[in-house]
Amino acid sequence: MDYFYGPGRNHLFVPGPVNIPEPVIRAMNRNNEDYRSPAIPAMTKTLLEDVKKIFKTTSGIPFLIPTTGTGAWESALTNTLSPGDRTVSFLIGQFSLLWIDQQQRLGFNVDVVESDWGQGADLDILASKLAEDTAHTIKAVCIVHNETATGVTNNLAKVRKILDDYSHPALFLVDGVSSICALDFRMDEWGVDVALTGSQKALSLPTGMGIVCASPKAIEASKTAKSVRVFFDWKDYLKFYNLGTFWPYTPSIQLLYGLRAALDLLFEEGLENVFERHARLGKATRLAVEAWGLKNCTQKEEWFSDTVTAVVVPPYIDSAEIVRRGWKRYNLSLGLGLNKVAGKVFRIGHLGNLNELQLLGCLAGVEMILKDVGYPVKLGSGVAAACAYLQNNTPLIASRV
Ligand code: PLP
Repeated sequence: MDYFYGPGRNHLFVPGPVNIPEPVIRAMNRNNEDYRSPAIPAMTKTLLEDVKKIFKTTSGIPFLIPTTGTGAWESALTNTLSPGDRTVSFLIGQFSLLWIDQQQRLGFNVDVVESDWGQGADLDILASKLAEDTAHTIKAVCIVHNETATGVTNNLAKVRKILDDYSHPALFLVDGVSSICALDFRMDEWGVDVALTGSQKALSLPTGMGIVCASPKAIEASKTAKSVRVFFDWKDYLKFYNLGTFWPYTPSIQLLYGLRAALDLLFEEGLENVFERHARLGKATRLAVEAWGLKNCTQKEEWFSDTVTAVVVPPYIDSAEIVRRGWKRYNLSLGLGLNKVAGKVFRIGHLGNLNELQLLGCLAGVEMILKDVGYPVKLGSGVAAACAYLQNNTPLIASRV
């Protein structure tokens, strides 16, 4: 029974899980099928080919794994590294913290580069570590492309350049959980060795599929990596890829059909248009925050995220109360502040299958909540700023031109 029903639709603005578009919901509304029939391998083959496009890779090998982003991390690490291997990993928020914790628990020697929450990865420190590491003890550089807890996007092209400047052979492992399919991601151009995402983020699917893509160098590394792995072993997948049956164990048939529909929608819109839409929604949100007189948790423009904005509230307001109010009064779901920024920020997720008017509904809701909790906001100020920008910058819908 749906105890928490609210009239109208829920405005889901957490930074994942996100709204699932109707065509995807319909595509998944089906019976189970025999995954060993000819139909599922045939579909899987097209999915694996098409998934490469969202990573912008031609040489990478993708794996569609029944898991979440956390499992995708584990797949990336255990297939490419051995216990005791040195990794350099950037701590800039809750998700990079959790990935570091996983690296430590898996027995790697993690060299943590910490920055204030709200800042991007400190790439000067990376450069100095690589410069010193003439013996190549660093086996992997691990970075979260978009830190969902603080709304910070790191510059991956810069990381690649630094690795190249020092001709350093470390693997380049990237969490693209809240960036891939929303922010431009160029696996081949940036020389990323393992990139990964989760289905419930910008792909706009239910949770349950981790999508991991490995470069030829990462596949090579997996042949000698000694970390224990069973469920996540790429070798098992590759064996079934070679057989043409694709699945070492039972896939979710519904998620496969959902992925097909989700990719079709992304390609119909055009990936570059998808990125531009996210850039527009991100900018409109930041303009609203500015008009409210509030600060973005992200400290510099170069790190502004187009998928999530963490809004800093004045010290006399508990940001968790903003999230509670949104849910209880306006059927609006906002993201909580996590860990170090708990109570201090609330987050507006603007990723996935989302449009301008949906975002304006969220911004209007936030304004009312701010007033509810005693912040002297001028109602309409953020919405007006966002509207003015969107009215000037929203293109015609590509499929309707
Ligand atoms: N990485 C990032 C950047 C995330 O935002 C999240 C979850 O929000 C994760 C990893 C973990 O993903 P999951 O919750 O699907 O395991």
